[in-house]
Formats: sequence, structure tokens, C-alpha cells
Amino acid sequence: MISVEEALERILSYVSVLEPEEKRILDALGQVLAEDVTSSIDIPPLDNTAMDGYAVRAADAAGATPERPVRLRVAGELAAGHLYEGEVEPGAAVRIMTGAPMPAGADAVVPFEDTNESGAHAFGRFSKAVDSVLVCKAARPGDNVRQAAEDVCRGALVLGRGAVLRPAHVGILASLGRTTVRVVRRPVVAILSTGDELAQVGEPLRPGAIYDSNSHSVAAMVLQNGGIPRILGIARDTVEDLTAKIRQGLDADMLITSAGVSRGDYDVVKDVLAREGEVDFWTVRMKPGKPLAFGAFTSGQRRIPHIGLPGNPVSSMVTFELFGRPAVFKMMGKTRWQRPVVRATSEERIVNTDGRRVYARAVVTQRDGRYYASLTGPQGSGILTSMSLANALAIVPEDSPTVEPGEEVSVVMLEWSQGED
Ligand code: AMP
Ligand code: MG
Repeated sequence: MISVEEALERILSYVSVLEPEEKRILDALGQVLAEDVTSSIDIPPLDNTAMDGYAVRAADAAGATPERPVRLRVAGELAAGHLYEGEVEPGAAVRIMTGAPMPAGADAVVPFEDTNESGAHAFGRFSKAVDSVLVCKAARPGDNVRQAAEDVCRGALVLGRGAVLRPAHVGILASLGRTTVRVVRRPVVAILSTGDELAQVGEPLRPGAIYDSNSHSVAAMVLQNGGIPRILGIARDTVEDLTAKIRQGLDADMLITSAGVSRGDYDVVKDVLAREGEVDFWTVRMKPGKPLAFGAFTSGQRRIPHIGLPGNPVSSMVTFELFGRPAVFKMMGKTRWQRPVVRATSEERIVNTDGRRVYARAVVTQRDGRYYASLTGPQGSGILTSMSLANALAIVPEDSPTVEPGEEVSVVMLEWSQGED
């Protein structure tokens, strides 16, 4: 039996970062940037106004106060997207809207709130065009002006290779005028359930059968973590059927099977693995999830990593979380797959019977600045509802005795929300 850390290390040594692909910027959301993105333009391209108001020469309005306003001649109006022709002369101002480029000669903007447009009469495109305006507050050079290139300078490195694209990144790419971007492609993960007792959803349930839930919970986890799941279906517990079904998945980037790895069944998966590839390890010192198998299938020149998850529905999800998710992340080019771990006060007894690391399904809540962990009910590895209620896994280390109520435990946060998204 190897440790959780060693198992993860071995699995990750078999998987590598996938090749890049060109994607439309929105479709690249969540993927890892495979190029350095530099800008060929300044953003903003020109000095422009941050407020609706009057573009002025600051020197003209330097002494303005509400009691002693300064009257300026209104020389014109300017909306965003238009350039002002000519120059703002001393004693003049241009009525200007947010985002419009600063007219030549002006070096400050006085917001409407600090002006008095009384005497206004309507003409032209804008309803409130005026002949002259009173500035009621002193202006200093640069007031309410957004400087050209204050966000991005032409030639600057804006996004670095390795960044995980979030909505702001997609927006930045658009602001640079990019339609597509190079990102590491998402891994295709083939998923196969094994077991004579399994029935496909949608089929009637014959006596003694259960529905295959693992294919779906694991596929959902692959999807949620950025991979592309490909459900292969159900293989019967025979070498022939398992071999045939596994071969259908060998063009994927990784193969995940569930079940057929516990002591009674293991021989089938092991026989197939040994014949078509190699077995790296079997059994990890953890609970649930001890009978985890790992190896690789060979297909031509390719070696396809294979994680054999245990069949119990909770075990397969917990082991995918600990080993499958980091493998998917690594293939996607992500380097940080550690979940946040916090210390919480256990509200319940968490039993550790046989020196394996326990991952108990827990609900973590925060009260008065402290975290509390309670179990989600019976912890049997077949009780999938215990997983659906959990937002965390509480860890009892291999060498620690049972945790008593009131004692501290480390909890891996799966979700920060407390039950509701
Ligand atoms: P095994 O690892 O084959 O011994 O399976 C362990 C337990 O998990 C058994 O009770 C199986 O019926 C159950 N099991 C195996 N595969 C699945 C599956 N795909 N969906 C739901 N339960 C499963
Ligand atoms: Mg079985």
C-alpha cells in the first residue's frame, strides 16, 4: 500500500501537458494560455474624459469657486467616438461626454455637477447645448482625464503564458482586438464502468441489478474540472468484454475505469492491464478508496494513463477528486490543483480504525470567524448521498487516532458555498 502523496506523484509522472490549440476567445474560458499576449495598441488609445462635463484649459478655471464662478465660452460639443476638430482656445470650453478624446488645448474636465449651464437653450444633436457655462470649482491639469495607455502600453506583455483564462482575461483579449487565442487543449477522458450487476440508465432494472452511477458522477467531475468526458458504457466482468471496451477508449488522453479492482474482482482488470500495458500500483493507504489501481495501456506509440477507480460510488468520487482531478489539471497546463485546506472544529466523532488516511464527507460552516465540520451522515462508501451533501472532506491522518467532538481537523474545501450555490 502506498501513500496518497506517492500515488499522486506516480500518476502525475505519467501525464503531460497537452498541445496547444487556437480557440475563439470566449470558447477559451477556463483554459490555460499557451502564448504570451502582447498589445499592438495603446489602451486607451488617446487621452479622454472620465466624466461628462466641460473640457477646459485648467489655467482658465484655476480660481473658480461657487461664489466666484468663471464664465467660459462654449466652443462645441463632443461625444465618445468622435474627434474634436480644432483647438480649445483660452477662455473657451467644449461640452464633452465620457470616453470622448480630449480636444487639443484642453487639459482638464470639469464635471457637469461643478458647472452652471443656466441660460442654456436647445440646439444641435444634444438637447442641452449652451453658449457659455459657469465653472464653479477650481480645475487642475489632468482632472478627470484618463491618460492614453494608462491601462496598456503598446508592445507591453499583457497576459503571460500559463494564465488560466477568466472572464476579465477574455475581456482584455477583446480589448486588444483579438478574436482567437492559443490555449492548451482540454483532455478527453474516456470513462468505463465494469460490473455484471450494472444497468444503463434508461433501461429497466432487472432483479439484482443497480444503475451505473459512477460513469455519470465521474463524467460530471471531469466536466466540472475542465476535461471532456467520453462515456464508453459498461463492460461485463470478463477479460474479453473489458479488453474490447477499453480498446474503444485508447484514443483518449486518459482512461478511467470504475470497479473491478477490489480483491475479488481485481484479476480481470489486472489481466487486461498486464496484457495491454503495465500496472504501476494497486492499493493506496486511504479510506475510502483503498483499492485504487493505476497503470497505462499501450496503443501503437502511445501510452494512455489508466486510473482504475474503486467501484463504490463514494470511493470513486473521492479518488477521482484526489487523483483524477490533478491529472486533468496537469494535462490542461494548470500548475495549481491544491484545494484550500482550513482547520475546523469537528462537531462529531470521526473514526479511524486501521491506520489509513480518512477522508470523511463533511459540511463545513463558519460561525464567529471559526470553521466547524460536521459529517454528512453515515459514511459508508456506497452511500452516495453522503457525498452530495458535503462541501468538504475532513482528513484524519494515518497515524492519528479517532477524532473526538471538539477536536480540530484539517478539511479540504470542495466548495465554499454551504449547500447552496
Ligand atoms: P467492485 O469494486 O466491483 O467490487 O464494486 C464495489 C461496489 O461498487 C459494488 O457494490 C458495486 O455494485 C458497486 N459499483 C460498482 N460499479 C458501480 C457503478 N458504476 N455504479 C454504481 N455502483 C457501482
Ligand atoms: Mg464488480
